Amino acid sequence: MLLRLVLASVLLALLAARPAAAQESWSPDPKLLARAKALLAQVPVIDGHNDLPSAILGQGAGDLTRLDLARPQPQLHTDLARLKQGQVGAQFWAAYVTVDSIPAKAALRHALREIDMVQRMTQRYAELELARTAADIERIQKAGKTASLIGVEGGHALEGSLSALREFHELGVRYLTLTHSRTHEWADASTDYPQHNGLSEFGEEVVREMNRLGIFVDLSHVSAETMKDALRVSAAPVIFSHSSARALVDHPRNVPDDVLRLVPRNGGVVMVNFCPCFIAPNAVRWVEQRDSVREQLQRELDSRAEIARRTREWLRAHPRPRGSVADVADHIDHIRRVAGIDHVGLGSDFDGFDDTPVGLEDVSMFPNLIAELLRRGYSDEDVKKIAGLNLLRAMRQMEQVAARLRAERPASLADTAAALSRN
Ligand SMILES: [Zn+2]
Repeated sequence: MLLRLVLASVLLALLAARPAAAQESWSPDPKLLARAKALLAQVPVIDGHNDLPSAILGQGAGDLTRLDLARPQPQLHTDLARLKQGQVGAQFWAAYVTVDSIPAKAALRHALREIDMVQRMTQRYAELELARTAADIERIQKAGKTASLIGVEGGHALEGSLSALREFHELGVRYLTLTHSRTHEWADASTDYPQHNGLSEFGEEVVREMNRLGIFVDLSHVSAETMKDALRVSAAPVIFSHSSARALVDHPRNVPDDVLRLVPRNGGVVMVNFCPCFIAPNAVRWVEQRDSVREQLQRELDSRAEIARRTREWLRAHPRPRGSVADVADHIDHIRRVAGIDHVGLGSDFDGFDDTPVGLEDVSMFPNLIAELLRRGYSDEDVKKIAGLNLLRAMRQMEQVAARLRAERPASLADTAAALSRN
């Protein structure tokens, strides 16, 4: 009897030490899923951000014969078959420019390498076609293909040159994320120290020139002050190509409510990011705990191997929270409540992070999210707006503003004096 009691308590202790069983799968109501798919057949997904070009440049050394998207690529979130399954009718491919290229003075070359990667993808596969306008998106979708757009991620890519901005537009770039993770010479980033209290004077001129050209001002990654400056200056709708709501997950990458309230007047679209780091309720606390455990181990132990072993042990017992389709839908709910149904979109960030939310494991899973919104009482019209119509409307407005401004004023030469004095 005693032995059995001891065994039972040992077993209980073992069970208590195990992490809570994580939810591993998501099964929407089949009827709602069917309705979601039927709606996406009418209005396919327009996704604001996918890092596949960088993934191909990294894992496949940029060689599409080595990393062929026509074959299954299970180590990635994206390949052609899954894009079709996910009913993705338009994708903004990120031309991501690492901030490490700033000190190396290689940012512009880096951007061209990524833009070239997108163009080689679209030239190689008949399932993809480069889109330059909202009308292009609709035409390409009707042909059953995925319209491919280019977004340059990081304003440092310009190296201070408005000529580079104009040539980006010629190459098909349709958004520029004003910063990546670091503050640069004309804009403050959300994850770095501010230097300009938002945008510098030249930063405001960059926004005006983007308006004149017809390139979306993308406010993901920038500081809240940069968001407010850009919203004040921009004559065209802005986008947040991959950002969620800060009121739900207090991460500087997410959009605060006071900024969300400024979006309706601008006409912009906040495209919700799926990364667990921005949508899972405990994501920020988990990072804090992991970092403090690491710091404590470093204080207490000398052996690097032992620190690594104990860290791995902690990570096994405390897996990073993954979040789920429902958490992503919570962010959509919140942005809808604060900014309105006309200002919400999708910006997955697929192939830009590792662990995925349950039910949104890759680009084939968009219908799950639409089914969850339908379950929450969203109307057919509501989900069509979120899936793609809001972005199309904002893009048309952006194009009209550009046509008007081009007739009103010539190209900005604000960078010339600075460039000349530098030489
Ligand atoms: Zn990003």
